[in-house]
Amino acid sequence: MNYNVDAKGYYGEFGGAYIPEMLYPNVEELRTKYIEITSSSKFKEEFDALLKSYVGRPTPLYYAKRFSEKYNTKIYLKREDLCHTGAHKVNNTIGQILLAQHLGKKRIIAETGAGQHGVATATVCALMGLECIVYMGEIDIKRQAPNVARMKMLGATVIPATSGSMTLKDATNEAIRDWINNPTDTHYIIGSVVGPHPYPDMVARFQSIISEEIKQQLIEEEGRENPDFVVACVGGGSNAAGAYYHFLNNPDVGIIAVEAAGKGIDSGKSAATSVLGKMGIIHGSKTLLMQTPDGQITEPYSISAGLDYPGVGPLHAHLFKTGRGEFISITDEAAMRAGLELSKLEGIIPAIETSHALAIFENRKFDKDDVVVINLSGRGDKDLNTYIEYFEL
Ligand SMILES: *Cc1c(COP(=O)(O)O)cnc(C)c1O
Repeated sequence: MNYNVDAKGYYGEFGGAYIPEMLYPNVEELRTKYIEITSSSKFKEEFDALLKSYVGRPTPLYYAKRFSEKYNTKIYLKREDLCHTGAHKVNNTIGQILLAQHLGKKRIIAETGAGQHGVATATVCALMGLECIVYMGEIDIKRQAPNVARMKMLGATVIPATSGSMTLKDATNEAIRDWINNPTDTHYIIGSVVGPHPYPDMVARFQSIISEEIKQQLIEEEGRENPDFVVACVGGGSNAAGAYYHFLNNPDVGIIAVEAAGKGIDSGKSAATSVLGKMGIIHGSKTLLMQTPDGQITEPYSISAGLDYPGVGPLHAHLFKTGRGEFISITDEAAMRAGLELSKLEGIIPAIETSHALAIFENRKFDKDDVVVINLSGRGDKDLNTYIEYFEL
């Protein structure tokens, strides 16, 4: 079995590019050029240099001793929280802005829900001196004021999406409309392994630096390059795709994907896309998504804004469908407990998205000698208010 994208842009039955005809030239330009550009030695040198000097890579692989003792197995944390801007998202935006430059683009657009991807995009646009337009639902602009302020400080223009539910999917529609109207000078930076081919594969490749480093670091720590399990939380699926990438085709490495169960899988308030989802098309990709019986996309819910997405990238849909990935859903309550626990046991305050991945140990048992790598996708500073309210700190 091969879990990489095929020549037509599919992962098994998922993926592809289901886009309006007007968008075809833009996506086709990317599709025909992304491999050639990103595998050139010039691009690789630029990418590696920025990951090192600007993002702060390689990020440490940290053996969490007290957390391991508590759960009686060997747990390593891949510290993406130590990346510049506090999460893995910048690995992808650095890659895409370099690609945009190689394509001669002068203007960058993006959509954002919680604002994290908007900030990561505004950051690299400031770095390169490129114009940056971020579309964001009007409701999200109100809910995520600190990230809106960050984007503005970084020089981006934030445009409210005022249609529909005024959240992420409406912002995405606005970004697509912009791209159709500006086909030659604009690059659209998508923030996860979602969207039409080649985005899921392109973003996974940029994030694959995570598993590349894990392999080298595990040799130093354990004398072998493969863990027994690699664990990550899944919103759209980009940090997970990066953490799994170099292990996908090695059946000795167990892949564990953790989704947000919100207030419970059957509560109607969750974002457990793989478990609850049906085949459908979202953001130009055929994948599993949460929908009503007549095919309307349902609003997802999670206490963590970054997991609050109604679909999942086509790679993850394929991992779920084939059984290659073990999918676990974690409630708000269990995630919040795990976030507090890691803080107290290791002195690391995780993003609430990541806390979902940390929460699996209550129910999922591992052998004492198993090497389990968890991708610590982000730091908890942005979530402090949610932690304060939840625990009445
Ligand atoms: C955005 C985000 C996620 C979810 O996005 P993926 O594409 O699934 O990785 C997870 N963790 C953090 C810290 C995030 O900011």
